[in-house]
Amino acid sequence: MDRVSPNLRGMGQWHATSGPDATQALDASPDGLAAPEAARRLREHGPNRLPEPARTHPLLRLLRQFNNILIYVLLGAAAVTAALGHGVDTAVIVAVVLANAIIGYVQEGKAERAMEALRGLLAPRAAVLRDGRRLGVDAGTLVPGDVVLLEAGDRVPADLRLLQVRGLQVQEALLTGESLPVDKQLDAVAADAPLGDRSCLAFSGTLVTAGQGRGLVVGTGADTEIGRISGLLTRVETLETPLVRQMDAFARGLSFVILAASALLLAAGHFIGDRPFDEVFMAVVGLAVSAIPEGLPAVLTITLAVGVQAMARRNAIVRRLPAIETLGAVSVICTDKTGTLTRNEMVVATVALAGASYRVEGEGYAPLGLLVREGGGEGPAAALADLAMAAALCNDAALHSRNGEWQVEGDPMEGALLAFAGKAGIDLQQVGADWPRVDAIPFDARHRFMASLHHDHDGHVVAVAKGAPERMLSMCACQRGEAGDESLDAVAWREAAEAIAARGQRVLAFATRDMPPGSTSLDFADVEGPLVFLGLVGLIDPPRPEAVAAVAECRRAGIRVKMITGDHAGTAAAIGAQVGLEAPDAVLTGADLDELDDEALRAAVERTDVFARTSPEHKLRLVMALQSLGRVVAMTGDGVNDAPALKRADAGIAMGRKGSEAAKEASELVLADDNFASIAAAVREGRTVYDNLRKVIRWTLPTNAGEAGTIIVALLAGLALPVTPVQILWVNLATAVTLGLALAFEPTEPNTMRRPPRRPDEPLLDRSLAWHIALVASLFMLAVFGIFEWTLARGHSIELARTLAVNTLVVLEIFHLFHVRNLHGTSFNLQAIKGTPVIWLTITLVTVAQFAITYVPVLQQVFGTTAVPLADGLVVVALGVVLLVVLEADKALRIRRQQGKH
Ligand code: ADP
Ligand code: MG
Repeated sequence: MDRVSPNLRGMGQWHATSGPDATQALDASPDGLAAPEAARRLREHGPNRLPEPARTHPLLRLLRQFNNILIYVLLGAAAVTAALGHGVDTAVIVAVVLANAIIGYVQEGKAERAMEALRGLLAPRAAVLRDGRRLGVDAGTLVPGDVVLLEAGDRVPADLRLLQVRGLQVQEALLTGESLPVDKQLDAVAADAPLGDRSCLAFSGTLVTAGQGRGLVVGTGADTEIGRISGLLTRVETLETPLVRQMDAFARGLSFVILAASALLLAAGHFIGDRPFDEVFMAVVGLAVSAIPEGLPAVLTITLAVGVQAMARRNAIVRRLPAIETLGAVSVICTDKTGTLTRNEMVVATVALAGASYRVEGEGYAPLGLLVREGGGEGPAAALADLAMAAALCNDAALHSRNGEWQVEGDPMEGALLAFAGKAGIDLQQVGADWPRVDAIPFDARHRFMASLHHDHDGHVVAVAKGAPERMLSMCACQRGEAGDESLDAVAWREAAEAIAARGQRVLAFATRDMPPGSTSLDFADVEGPLVFLGLVGLIDPPRPEAVAAVAECRRAGIRVKMITGDHAGTAAAIGAQVGLEAPDAVLTGADLDELDDEALRAAVERTDVFARTSPEHKLRLVMALQSLGRVVAMTGDGVNDAPALKRADAGIAMGRKGSEAAKEASELVLADDNFASIAAAVREGRTVYDNLRKVIRWTLPTNAGEAGTIIVALLAGLALPVTPVQILWVNLATAVTLGLALAFEPTEPNTMRRPPRRPDEPLLDRSLAWHIALVASLFMLAVFGIFEWTLARGHSIELARTLAVNTLVVLEIFHLFHVRNLHGTSFNLQAIKGTPVIWLTITLVTVAQFAITYVPVLQQVFGTTAVPLADGLVVVALGVVLLVVLEADKALRIRRQQGKH
């Protein structure tokens, strides 16, 4: 690797080098690189990406299209017809095979590019210090010398020499095979320490399971430990889902059945029917070729690829393809509240102190606005100032004003707290400079608070903490009153918190304490008990209007929406009501859940839609309880601790923005915008794709059966063939890859989200499909034999009779297509008749082709056809209309029967 600069190559022993030495060796600083320097190094070292795995050669990919049992049978047939001297037939069969391979090749390429683009959307991000400021960047832009911030749930984005750790644990199974997380520390280790013992390094690709840390980038891209073994990691993702696999197996089985049947027919036709072998053989080839659904695998794959892209357009990025089918069957969605159902654009609206409360005015994150005391008068100024200062100090966010608009870097809730502190008269710049942070206990959804330790320049030390009110109350013995510290009135605070929560506001409590001079570290023991309670803050986080609409859509679609949040029960219930959950009032808290055994939980989870004050562990129990009730569960999550529940859920959904890498990797789906509405959109697309897969199958199988049946009946009954072998081969060529393909692009049916979810165990070949195949095949045969015999009876030539029969077959397929496009509703409305551009394009192609073989003299010679008089042509089209009417009547009966069942 010549991209590595000389000073870097010289080192290499980063684990045996101290943090400061490493920083110096890389010409870096603990505050991070300056942006221009980072850009320069990026040019020098190249992007922080592993080399792409070698691609399959295009020629090989094209050849792979032929590697399919269905195609082998066709090629075999082509070889034999060629040997028998039927050049035209051979050419048509070869054309079928080629058309199929080319379409498969082109579409597979498109699908792969689409999947690749999705992978790009999922590119990992990293938090880095540049010019002393925290910045989120594409992990691909990291360079040696960058300072990276790590927290639980992150994938380590490059090889790092750690500079700061706080309870940092990393799971390194990827490199060392050790599945337990290892503790990280700062001291250099022996130069010959094995990889697993280099505890002052964090390796690219490993997973942070707990704690926080900061590290200096010492290796990027191929120059990382993982880069050295990356050859082992090339993953192959194929476009396959349970339905497609089921269909592949079915198609394979079907081709054996067809081969066996063909052999039998050959024997029967030749020996019993006493026809010339050559003639019977060609008929049987036509039968086999038309019966084999050779286009089906490619069309199913294309349907999936179209679905993946449609979902991506709606901000739902599919990580694992089978999720597309699962999403269509989802019957319960368990969703987060903050940021998913709500906007996560917070504003402090209420402040409660001992003996005074305030309404906070002003909009957005601007630190400008008034605090109005309820009931008027002056409040306890000192207590308010303490609270505001705690809000400013115990805070990881920053506010920036860009073109007069205030924006948050970091957690929106903390941004809102900064804005509030500003309104309360705190100079945000100044307070940070006066009271630098020395240590902190980071927020964790499990302990629901955070605390930080600050020094001023006169040797005073304070700890400030914020968190869930109940939690903070348990950490305090007294409260700050108007006249100094007094004993804590927990009951009154709890009531005050309930009152704020009941308005749908998120409630946060603040506390503080003086620490012994010289303290430099903060531990749980320092804050558990001896804190002074300062007061409460209520934050508004309004529901997203589109989430409200999406919840309503889900309810119409028979999907129960449940909210699982770490927030206060009162807040959760109020927001639940605002977004329109079915039963927002019966709230179960994490503590309630702990009381319930599995049996009781199963009963409770049915009725309850709001779960508050839960920990990530509760999510797993809830998923399992719902699954034991037979539900298909979608579950959202963002933190590292959510991963088990996301994995367990039928459809795990991770947040693309605020979600950790760990959560994304455990999920089937990633939401680019963290928005509940995108989940509903994904379910709708999932249902659409599943419908379209069914439509493709529902169109292809009966069509093939009808074509094949025509020949079988003629052979068995000893009748003249109404369509010659070369004609049936032609029909197969002209329609299989055009009309069938059109269904892959079908839009969502209008009533898709007004139906209950499909049963997850619904078989592919159910009775309704079997009936449909039998019905359509019979109608096809009836029409084809009918027009054939009728034309002969009128004294016309057998050529005209056959030409009419061939055209009838194609016309019936077109009308059958219109029937299949609407599985769940009538095809007799304007919308359905208008069709789509794709539909009309394929119909036009097929029609032009049919006119060509009917009227172009050369083709008439090849296919044994003759020009069709107008009146007869109209009869052919009329037959299509009759078919559609009969099939639609049958559908209406089916739908009525199904509705009767619900
Ligand atoms: P949600 O389900 O709404 O995302 P969280 O698990 O993020 O809930 O938060 C649960 C509770 O923890 C909040 O209601 C709040 O009381 C507290 N909390 C959340 N974020 C912080 C933070 N950064 N600092 C202190 N407390 C927090
Ligand atoms: Mg949260």
